[in-house]
Amino acid sequence: MRVHSLHLKQYRNINELTLQCQETLHFFVGANAQGKTNILESLYVLGMGKSHRSRTHKELIQFGKESAQLQAQVVKGTQKMKLSITLTEKGKKVSRNGIEQTKLSHYIGSLPIVLFAPEDLSIVKGSPQVRRRFLDMEIGQVSPAYIHYLTQYNKLVSQRNSLLKQLAQKKSHPSLLTVINEQLISLACEIWFRRFRFLISLQKWAQEIHQAITQQTDELVVKYVPSVKLSVEMKKEELAQVMEAELAKVMDKEIQRGTTLVGPHRDDLNLTVGGIDLHTFGSQGQQRTAALSLKLAEIELIYHETGYYPILLLDDVLSELDDQRKTHLLESIKGRVQTFVTTTSLDGIDPVLLQQSKVYQVKQGI
Ligand code: ATP
Ligand code: MG
Repeated sequence: MRVHSLHLKQYRNINELTLQCQETLHFFVGANAQGKTNILESLYVLGMGKSHRSRTHKELIQFGKESAQLQAQVVKGTQKMKLSITLTEKGKKVSRNGIEQTKLSHYIGSLPIVLFAPEDLSIVKGSPQVRRRFLDMEIGQVSPAYIHYLTQYNKLVSQRNSLLKQLAQKKSHPSLLTVINEQLISLACEIWFRRFRFLISLQKWAQEIHQAITQQTDELVVKYVPSVKLSVEMKKEELAQVMEAELAKVMDKEIQRGTTLVGPHRDDLNLTVGGIDLHTFGSQGQQRTAALSLKLAEIELIYHETGYYPILLLDDVLSELDDQRKTHLLESIKGRVQTFVTTTSLDGIDPVLLQQSKVYQVKQGI
């Protein structure tokens, strides 16, 4: 995938911008609050149909203006596409090659994106919920079936929780729970099955990338921590048996608490480097490198699933990495993946690499 040009109008603090960006590596350099992230965000919006840091699209329209426009010419193999998004007070119009796309799910995939932003540190530092969301988002990008099963599963869990509360008040019959359990087990197995398969590839790529960035022998290990005693090697039938037995075991407790205590919605990931738990003991730089390795692993996964490399957006990542890690990070993606980087300073970046890149100074949205 390549973005050949980007055109923005009245987008955040950028009044008008046209970029010809056929090169592989692009740096946006400038002081704080100048518009660097805004440019990266616009590419994310063109790929995903929404921003990663705003809940409403209205925030993206320049203050005092009525609309914003984003356009990109992208190339996917031999296929050329024109992507365009217009934002107004009333809503959002997304089109591809001049044809309006009413379903975002049909549009996503036109420009696959992997973004690494400062807030992604929470994949390591944050709660299990953040790690589950990471898993779900990343698997969802390559497996629509996964999104389907997950949506069904989450709905069922909330229905089941209501039923558990009714059972506590003796307002319902336990036989209903047996029916729901059967469906729950079946969906849980579909989710686990896909998460495990994904994790095997993720682990492999993340480990290699982590090694390339750190140049150290300490291995990054990503382990799935299930809420029931499962192992990633189990077949679907075995997973179902374990879940069934576990649900029987915790039934009284679940009724007492009115909530579903086991299943994919209660699982977690554990990240270690050289056997040391990063969540508890990792330095900021170590945590960032691990989170970054997971995100970069997603690039390889998307490539292997779709045959195309996504676009990589690196927002403010370099400042937290030492010079060696910076160089190895940029070297590891050089040439293959079109990358857009924001930074407040180019210090510590290999001058040879800079010569082969396009560097833009960003000042007050210009
Ligand atoms: P940092 O180095 O601090 O991350 P940055 O260059 O990435 O800075 P941006 O996040 O791109 O900065 O934001 C630049 C400016 O855009 C901010 O000062 C912000 O107030 C402004 N801004 C945000 N939304 C809008 C909008 N809708 N209209 C006009 N300006 C906006
Ligand atoms: Mg920024």
